[in-house]
Amino acid sequence: MSAYSNILVAVDLSNESRIVIRRALAAVDNSAKIHLVYVQEPMDSVYMGVVPYGPVFVGMDEVEANLRKELQDRLAALGKDFGIAADDLHFLSGSPAKEIHQFVDGHGIDLVVIGTHGQKGVQLLLGSTANSVLHGCSCDVLAVRIKEA
Ligand code: AMP
Repeated sequence: MSAYSNILVAVDLSNESRIVIRRALAAVDNSAKIHLVYVQEPMDSVYMGVVPYGPVFVGMDEVEANLRKELQDRLAALGKDFGIAADDLHFLSGSPAKEIHQFVDGHGIDLVVIGTHGQKGVQLLLGSTANSVLHGCSCDVLAVRIKEA
């Protein structure tokens, strides 16, 4: 019997998410509750860019709303493919590590499953999402190694 019953699987909605979910499902009992969590980082409200004929200011609200819809669809598709109920799909907004820490504390999570590329050197110093989640998480963390193709 697995020691874990309430699991948060953090996905960035890339293709690698499937590897992370598969590993999480293989590591725990069928009876465990799986929460699939994606955190969208807010864009700045205004983008200032330069096009060939001069600088432009573009409102990002519409772009962000379209992106949110696309990402929500991806999360729903992942949930459907892996048989995770809609109530257990969580689309959050903010800083991924901070939101994940808050979710862990607020939902009595006993295991977080994340992907990691095993960053080294400068990337490690700067801190990946996986590192940020690991440091400061109040429960166990399973880091699923994503092998480079
Ligand atoms: P990274 O450190 O960005 O390479 O991401 C490593 C892992 O952190 C991913 O495989 C996910 O498990 C998790 N992760 C990254 N970004 C997010 C996000 N926006 N929302 C939820 N989990 C994320």
